[in-house]
Amino acid sequence: MTSYDAVVVGSGTIGLAAAWRLAASGRRVAVVDPHPGTGASYAAAGMLAPVTEASWGEEALTQLGVRSLAAWPGFAAGLAAASGLDVGLRQGGTLLVAADASDRAYLDELLAYQLHCGLDASWCPASTCRELEPSLAPGIRGGILATGDAQVDNRRLLGSLAEATRRAGVVSVAAPATLATAAGSVSGVVAGAGPHVEELRAPLVVVAAGWASSALPGLPERVVPPVRPVKGQILRLVARRGDAEVTRTVRAVVHGVPVYLVPRGDGRYVLGATSEEQGTDTTVTAGAVYGLLRDAHRIVPGLGDFELVEARAGLRPGSPDNAPLVGPTALPGLVLATGHYRNGILLAPVTAEAVAALAETGEVPDWARPFDPRRFAADGAAVGAAVGAAVGAAP
Ligand SMILES: Cc1cc2nc3c(=O)[nH]c(=O)nc-3n(C[C@H](O)[C@H](O)[C@H](O)COP(=O)(O)OP(=O)(O)OC[C@H]3O[C@@H](n4cnc5c(N)ncnc54)[C@H](O)[C@@H]3O)c2cc1C
Repeated sequence: MTSYDAVVVGSGTIGLAAAWRLAASGRRVAVVDPHPGTGASYAAAGMLAPVTEASWGEEALTQLGVRSLAAWPGFAAGLAAASGLDVGLRQGGTLLVAADASDRAYLDELLAYQLHCGLDASWCPASTCRELEPSLAPGIRGGILATGDAQVDNRRLLGSLAEATRRAGVVSVAAPATLATAAGSVSGVVAGAGPHVEELRAPLVVVAAGWASSALPGLPERVVPPVRPVKGQILRLVARRGDAEVTRTVRAVVHGVPVYLVPRGDGRYVLGATSEEQGTDTTVTAGAVYGLLRDAHRIVPGLGDFELVEARAGLRPGSPDNAPLVGPTALPGLVLATGHYRNGILLAPVTAEAVAALAETGEVPDWARPFDPRRFAADGAAVGAAVGAAVGAAP
């Protein structure tokens, strides 16, 4: 048996970012994960895109994303200093284009909503889009330029977070966790199974197990978060010498279906992604790969010459209102940091900050209150009403 100040369950982006921040304030921290860094955080595209991700009815989430985007340069610099490893932050903006007239009508409405929310977005006629990105297809119908949306290399980020936590003294235990409770409070976790178990005692347990947060053994029924897996199939490509490339992230709506192409700046591209309610299935299907390539090819015809180097499926941690669950629960000592759905890479800095503040003061900062996990609890009516007002404030 070993004692810690805090144990974090899950070493994806969210768990590692929280562990790093907790250890930075002098706490003894352990992270438990049977397969570190292999979850949604590994599959993701790494877009930091609160403006082009903005959606009707999600105003509070969008504002949280804007806050986190602003924190990213400092977060990335701090990580690079702590780990010696760069995370590949690129701040080149995003161009979201329309493939046909009805896609254009959709983008017109989206831009009006983005401006209503005070976001930094502007309309670009097709000719301007093609001046910005000459590799775009001639037939596109214009688009929205979001100069602030950025990206990181999410796989470098995982490596950097793992190294920063290691250097900060965080103990990493490669085993599945079961939550342990005693006398109505959290008492730590049990790592492993069968005869090979290790007890990690701690007064604070942060559950950051992605979509599997709702399946964590030992969680009392009343604090199980309503988080589900949402399948995303995603491709990785490499441009070859002489291929026509794009310089900034290009997103598109193609006959009503979204697609994106994220250039890493060194010839590597991420092309995504489907969004499917398929439970825990992670099969890569021919239809999904075909659809992604077809739609992206319609927008950037030159990618037909790129090398296809990877196809995989990841499971996003989806929540009922698409917003994360970050904060305390009805079980003393149990903190949730999960449900980040499509934005877990973007929201890593603010999530880590909220968890660190909670450990320090017993409360999350005011800006994090709309994301209190108790908004979904049967006895969380007051919190739920407040969140409903904040999240549902869109026209
Ligand atoms: C295709 C795709 C594209 C995406 N693109 C973007 C994007 O561009 N920008 C963005 O911001 N977000 C994106 N996302 C979303 C983002 O990836 C997630 O929101 C984020 O990675 C969630 O991080 P996490 O640490 O909570 O979960 P994960 O990265 O899934 O990590 C959870 C960890 O918990 C561990 N675990 C599970 N059960 C247990 C247990 N019992 N004990 C111990 N450990 C356990 C798992 O092994 C895993 O390592 C994308 C997701 C997908 C699938």
